[in-house]
Amino acid sequence: MNMKRLQGEMAAIGEPAFRAKQLQSWAYQKLAASFDEMSDLPLSLRHILKEKIRLSTLSPYGEPCRNNDTVKMLFKLEDGKTIEAALMHYAESAGKERNTVCVSTQVGCPVGCPFCATGQQGFERNLTAGEIIDQVLYFARNLKAYGGKVTNIVFMGMGEPLANYEALLEAVKSLNSPDMFGLSARNMTISTVGLVPQINRLSREKLQVGLAISLHAADDDLRNRLVPVNKKYPVKELMKACRDYFEATGRRITFEYALFAGVNDSLAHARTLAHLLHGFNCHVNLIPSNNTPDSEYRAPAADVVHSFKEELDRLGINATIRHSRGQDINAACGQLRSRFLSDKK
Ligand code: SAH
Ligand code: SF4
Repeated sequence: MNMKRLQGEMAAIGEPAFRAKQLQSWAYQKLAASFDEMSDLPLSLRHILKEKIRLSTLSPYGEPCRNNDTVKMLFKLEDGKTIEAALMHYAESAGKERNTVCVSTQVGCPVGCPFCATGQQGFERNLTAGEIIDQVLYFARNLKAYGGKVTNIVFMGMGEPLANYEALLEAVKSLNSPDMFGLSARNMTISTVGLVPQINRLSREKLQVGLAISLHAADDDLRNRLVPVNKKYPVKELMKACRDYFEATGRRITFEYALFAGVNDSLAHARTLAHLLHGFNCHVNLIPSNNTPDSEYRAPAADVVHSFKEELDRLGINATIRHSRGQDINAACGQLRSRFLSDKK
């Protein structure tokens, strides 16, 4: 709930407006897990709130899947649908650490990329802003118990964030607001398949959010196959929207390029990519495919991945190979939920 809604709820039960502020601070800043913790609220009010308001729209479903540095959760929503979110821990130099939460924005996804487990599940519905925010708060509460905090948020879980624009923006603004969760927009990244009108709209918001474009192919023929929405918003239009985003925000764009053996991983593909990105201040993440049981798309051999990167280096394009984390715990996009859905059948 944003401030306006909280104030409305308080007014409805005859409470003064400052209670809304107290509640906001407990929920978003002190990360209370229950109304019992809200020690500066009268007991009688805490009882009423317990009856009337839920602190989260999500309930963890089953045990978390974890390995050393990644935790993946399946959550049940109030209508019984399920979504995934993940926490990735990175130890950085000088005792610093990064805790990145990866959140979903939709149940399933309408885009239907053939290599993606979420895309294969079809689309069920958009998440509300509250449901998006609650994924972050869940991990933030858990981290707090160990003295840690969420340092980064990536909108890279299930679904296409820009296809759920209003809720996404409300979530970004709430998570960013100093009165609410208070995380710098610079520490948030939206990953999109490239919905051009929404990228243009986002440019006008003048937020400092990072943008990651799931490119995966630099020419229209191949990209039409890998990312079907390319037929609507071809590469040239997408690149123009990206340049405009950079102009408007000063944020360097990240291009995600998943590598699929025999599909988009040759040196010729690397050269086409370098040609497309030539002169553009950006960064390329090369992600060897997360192999999923239901798709024929496979990761190339390690030497092919390295040669691809070297070719980009040679042509002056910054690229990093990102090894997938948590593959052993079904933490690739949509995989945990796919397993859950097939177990149910
Ligand atoms: N819908 C948005 C965000 C969610 S998908 C988008 O497509 O950008 C997050 C990222 O995971 C995207 O870059 C997507 O292309 C990638 N992805 C999905 N399935 C994958 C797979 N099997 N192997 C590698 N990357 C995958
Ligand atoms: Fe949707 Fe992204 Fe998966 Fe494509 S890759 S189906 S856009 S979640």
